[in-house]
Amino acid sequence: MIKFLGCKLFRYLSVFLFLNSSILPVKSSSALAAWGIKTNGVLELRTKSNSNLKAYFQKANQIYGDRFWVDFPGELSNPRIIKGNGPIKEIRLGKPNKGKTRLVIEFKEETYLEPLTWQMVGLDQNRWRIKLFSPKYSFKNIGEGLVEKKKGNIKANQNLSQKNKNYSYLKLPEVTRNKFEVVIDPGHGGPDPGAIGIGGIRETDVVLEVSKIIKKLLSERGVKVRLTRTNDVDLDLPPRVSIANNTDADIFVSIHANASRGKRRDINGLETFFYRGWKGRLLAKRIQKQILRVSPGSPDRGVKQGRFYVIKNTRMPAVLVEIGFLTGRLDARRLEKITHRKRLAYAIAKGILEYLDKVG
Ligand SMILES: [Zn+2]
Repeated sequence: MIKFLGCKLFRYLSVFLFLNSSILPVKSSSALAAWGIKTNGVLELRTKSNSNLKAYFQKANQIYGDRFWVDFPGELSNPRIIKGNGPIKEIRLGKPNKGKTRLVIEFKEETYLEPLTWQMVGLDQNRWRIKLFSPKYSFKNIGEGLVEKKKGNIKANQNLSQKNKNYSYLKLPEVTRNKFEVVIDPGHGGPDPGAIGIGGIRETDVVLEVSKIIKKLLSERGVKVRLTRTNDVDLDLPPRVSIANNTDADIFVSIHANASRGKRRDINGLETFFYRGWKGRLLAKRIQKQILRVSPGSPDRGVKQGRFYVIKNTRMPAVLVEIGFLTGRLDARRLEKITHRKRLAYAIAKGILEYLDKVG
C-alpha cells in the first residue's frame, strides 16, 4: 500500500513520485490539462499522457493552512487563484519555478484531514484521482476543463506509446558479448500458480512469459541466460538457488507479480527487492527505474531490502522484481496484454544490461 511518509524535519510529507518515460522540455506547455474537485472530496486530474507528477502534503503553519499540492512538468501560462468553499480555502495554480506547474489546494483551519490514508491512483495514462476529504463537509464542485477522457485521447496515447517504443524501449545497451551469464527465475509454477488476479489472471503464466522474452532479448545481446523453469512446472525454492549457485552466473533475477490482501483493486504499483550488497541494490535500482517507465501511473513502491529465500541464498547479486499487482485495476488490465509484458521484459533486460555494462 502506498501511503504518505512523514518526515518530521520538514513537517513535510513527500508523497509519490511517478517516473515516466516522457520528459518534457523546459519550454513546453503545462502537462496539466484539466482538474476538478467533486462534492465527494475527490480530486481528479487530467494531464498529458505519461506525465511525471509529484504530490505533497504539508501541515498548516503560521502562514498557511494545510496544503496539498501537485507539481506537473511544463510551464503554466496564466497563474491564478480560485476561491474555495467548504473545507477548501483556495486553489492556486502557479509556476514554482521555470518550466513547472503547481496546483495547490489550501484547506481552511480546523479541517480534519487524514493524509496518511491518501492514495493517488492513476486511472490510465493521463488521468489521476485522489480522495482528499469526506462528504461530511458540504462542498460544491470546483474545477477547470474536462477531466473525463475524451475519445480522441485514446488515439493520442497509442501514438505516444508507439513513439516511446521506438525511442526508449527498443534501445537496449550493448555489453561485451559472451562475457556475462544471468539466471532468470520465473516465480511459482505447477501446482503453485502464485497470485491469482482480476479475471483469474495467474502470476505463474505472466512471469514465465516475461522471463522468456527477457531471455530472448539478453541472448540477442550476447548474454548467456538460464531460466530456472521454462514451462509450468513445480519447482521448489532450493533448486532455483542451486541452479544459480552451480553456475558462474553474474546475477540472479526472480520475476514475480503481486497480489494485495483483500484483493483491493485500488492497490497497484511496482517494487524491486534485493537482499544484500551495493551490487544487488544497484541492480534493483536499474530495473526498478526501467519498469516504472513502462508503467505510467502505477505507483513506485521503491527498491527495498527483502529476505526472500531465493535472493537471500543465492551467492551472486540477486533481486526479486514485482512487476505489478494482478489484483490492481490498473496493473491487471495491463499485465493481461502481451504488449505490456513485452515492454516489461524490455525494461528488465535494459536494467540488467545497464548494470552489467556498469559493474562488468
Ligand atoms: Zn510471486
